Amino acid sequence: MAKPVIDYKKCVACGTCVQVCPVEVYANEKDKVVVKKPDACVECRACEVSCPQEAIKVIP
Ligand code: SF4
Ligand code: SF4
Repeated sequence: MAKPVIDYKKCVACGTCVQVCPVEVYANEKDKVVVKKPDACVECRACEVSCPQEAIKVIP
């Protein structure tokens, strides 16, 4: 099962991944974005290609 991971050394909490993920894997939590439902990932890679910081890796 694919596992999306955020590199917090790169993430600027822009929220793009929250917007583009079709199955709501990401969520805003306080001042950061978290991988809230990793098990829901369908490995479409929209988040990975959309992140302006290249902070997301979807590990197959
Ligand atoms: S799109 Fe990238 S930089 Fe923006 S919140 Fe998501 S992981 Fe962080
Ligand atoms: S690969 Fe697709 S389904 Fe998985 S977290 Fe990224 S946008 Fe969501």
